[in-house]
Amino acid sequence: MLSQLPEFANPWRLADQRKSFGGKMQLRDFGRLSEALLAIEGEVQFELDFYLDEWKRPRIGGRVKSVLPLECQRCLGRMDFPVDARLDLVVIEVHQEVENIPDTCETVLVPDEQLRLLDLVEDELLLSLPQVARHDRTLCNAASGGGSAARGQAKEDSRESVTKDSPFAVLAGLKTKQTE
Ligand SMILES: [Zn+2]
Repeated sequence: MLSQLPEFANPWRLADQRKSFGGKMQLRDFGRLSEALLAIEGEVQFELDFYLDEWKRPRIGGRVKSVLPLECQRCLGRMDFPVDARLDLVVIEVHQEVENIPDTCETVLVPDEQLRLLDLVEDELLLSLPQVARHDRTLCNAASGGGSAARGQAKEDSRESVTKDSPFAVLAGLKTKQTE
């Protein structure tokens, strides 16, 4: 059953009642996330299902969908970043409980029995943000332009970003060199 979303809720009680919430929020309602956005416009679709799992632990399943307007770090243009995140969280009351939770489960710490549901959705969106927002190269304004000079620049840029971004790419490069 879908219900109106309360601001604060007790996840233990909601799980006991098997409550589900769904609907839309506005991106402008998310203060922390707004700082990472190029424009604060758009909606977030969410679905939250509270239930008790087989060990009687309160769980929160669900889905968070949105399109986040980010700033491409290469051309500084707007980049619409789609998010479609699935949630599966175990609610814990004290941090020590983490030790009893298998690594495959994510936890949400709720020390005073009150969970702000907007924060839950916002955290999920924050976790979905890319480390560095960049257009796909074929879509990026900085990489377009026909001349050979522009292509040379793009090549230089790609080499730079590979070394900066991914230690694995660097390792792969080293490996290639050794086998050559
Ligand atoms: Zn770009």
